[in-house]
This record gives sequence, structure tokens and C-alpha cells, in this order.
Amino acid sequence: MAKRDYYEVLGVSKTATEDEIKKAYRKIALQNHPDTHPNDKEAEERFKEASEAYEVLSDPKKRSAYDQFGFSGMNDFQGGAAGNYSNVYRDFSDIFGGAGGFEDIFSSFFGGGGRQRRGAQGGEPGASFRYDLTLDFKEAVFGCKKEISFSHKVRCPSCSGQGGSGRHTCPTCGGSGRVATGSGFFQMATTCRTCGGKGYVIDNPCAECHGTGTVSKREKLMVTIQAGVDNGTRLTLRGKGDEGTGGAPDGDLILFITVRPDKYFVREGDDVYLQIPISIAQASLGATVLVPTVDGTDVSVDIPQGVQSGTMLRLKGKGVPRLRGGNRGDMYLRIVVEVPKRLSMKAKDLMKQLAGELKETTHPEPMEFRN
Ligand SMILES: [Zn+2]
Ligand SMILES: [Zn+2]
Repeated sequence: MAKRDYYEVLGVSKTATEDEIKKAYRKIALQNHPDTHPNDKEAEERFKEASEAYEVLSDPKKRSAYDQFGFSGMNDFQGGAAGNYSNVYRDFSDIFGGAGGFEDIFSSFFGGGGRQRRGAQGGEPGASFRYDLTLDFKEAVFGCKKEISFSHKVRCPSCSGQGGSGRHTCPTCGGSGRVATGSGFFQMATTCRTCGGKGYVIDNPCAECHGTGTVSKREKLMVTIQAGVDNGTRLTLRGKGDEGTGGAPDGDLILFITVRPDKYFVREGDDVYLQIPISIAQASLGATVLVPTVDGTDVSVDIPQGVQSGTMLRLKGKGVPRLRGGNRGDMYLRIVVEVPKRLSMKAKDLMKQLAGELKETTHPEPMEFRN
């Protein structure tokens, strides 16, 4: 089936503001939420379609790529720092805050916590979970391979994730997993006690998984970290979370990246900063010095004659590779002119001669205050 244009999906114009897009998505999501439309495939499709459109159009970078290249422009973003739905996640409380009862829209299609969307055969979707990964400065800059170890739920091999035999719809709640309590106007839905909210009961639960359909499994995985990730980058490993049962989708494993600071290099987006000391003679006369780069090699840098302490020199393309591909950021070199703390007798004499030659004043005129 051909994909519908994202703007068409949300029913907004190509020039819609962020706010208009957010409102349009909120409306569609509320109208088609799986909780209020159980077993309604069409509503579920509309909900997913709108979420995908919102995911793209709410992110300025993705939106501009989509505007320029259409769906093919989205390929660059697959599995990138912002995995699918990450925006929906970030904006979630913003969009649905105060809507009451819709707090779990996200978790219901993301698989984590709360009430969950059922699979075709009444199964449970797998939960997504977070994995914290710390990288060295250079691993983040240039990318690396990391082995991670985690345990997640997989479909039980004994019962193929069915949870046992003799499975049938819960007679108490009729399969919804929820029952109404109270009377008249003030009816409330609570989780069904017979089935624990699952919507079904199993006459002969599987001995290995005790009817849950899943068992815990420890796994090791070699993951490739792209060059250019930074503190706070999230990488989504699709389907590596808990496995869903009964045809419901698998959850994701989301890597939350933390980067250890380097002793000398400081990173700001794709640019790096480094500070180097030079002598007063080098500052006065100009010099060529060797400076380390993040690549691990030294580059030769010409220090201009008369450079002042605090001057920034830019080394183009010596920064961090951009996560989205293309060129690299820049490196900024801050020059610190070091005044010698100790002088030999000879150096003192030379300095005095220099002072005379430079015609020092004991009544300096103030200069503009700058940081
Ligand atoms: Zn029930
Ligand atoms: Zn089992």
C-alpha cells in the first residue's frame, strides 16, 4: 500500500506551524487511541500513521529532509540518534498532559508499562527498556563497537509464547481486561481481577513460564556506535527489548549514551575546544607549534605575531564527525600567553632591557572590559 503524505495524514498544510501540527496530531491520536477502540484495526492504523507523521513533522531536521526528499529523505534517520517515536516520547507530556487517562498512549504503542495494546491473539507487547552506555571521549567522536549484556523476556520455548493450553476469553470482563464499578454517573473502570487485565484465562498454564508466555534470557549483543554521538544521544535497537506474545510487537532496547570527559578536549556539539600555552617570546614574535587533535595526530599551527592571550584560532574540519554524515565540525584553539613565574639573572636583565625598549608606562590607560 502506498504511503500517504505526512501532511495529508495530519490534515495540515505544508506551511503549518509546530503548534498546528501538534494540535492536529493530538486530535487524531485521541480519536483513534487503541484503548478506546479495542480490536479496531483501522483506528490502530490511523493512530500509527499519525504518530509516524508527527514524529517526522515535529522535528525541524526531519521535516526539512522530508520536504526536500520525501520518504527517501527519511532513510538517513533510521536507527539514528533519534529513533522512531523519540519525539513523540519527548513531547508526550506536553501534548497529552492533563488529558487524563491518556498518559499511557505512548507506553501502549511503545510497549512499556501501563495498560498495553493487545496482539492479534490477545498477547502482550514486549516492553522497551533503557540501557545506559558510557563511552570514552574518543569512542564517541569516532564511533566504536561495544558488547552489551542484558536480560530480556523472550517467548517461552516450551509453549511458543502461548502461555499454555486451553486459553479462552475471560468470562468476567469479556476480554477487555477491565470491569466497570460504581453506579450511575460515576462509573469507573478497574482492572479485571479474574484475568489480571489480560483479557483471557488459561486452563493449563505452561510449567516453564507459569502461563506468562515469556521467560527471562540473558543476552550479549555487539552494537556499532556511530561516530559523532554525544552525551544524551539515544540509539534505538529495534525489537531488542522484551519479546511480545500472541502476535503483539517486540519492545525496543534504547541505549542512553553518556560520554566521559577528556582531560584536554572539550566538546560543544560537533566542535572541539583546546587550550594551549605559549611563551611571551612566541606570542611577540610569532611561532609554529605542534598541537594535538582528537584524531591522535599533531598538526602544525602558525601562531601569528603579536597574538594576545585568549585569542581563538579555528582549525577547520578538525572537530567531531557529524552524526548525520557529511563533513566534520571545527577545532578551536585558545591561546594562553604564559608569563614566566621564575627568571634567571640573565633573563631578568634581558627583561629590564626589553622594558626600556618598549617604553613602558606607569600610568596605563584603561581598556575596554571583556571576558
Ligand atoms: Zn478479565
Ligand atoms: Zn511457556
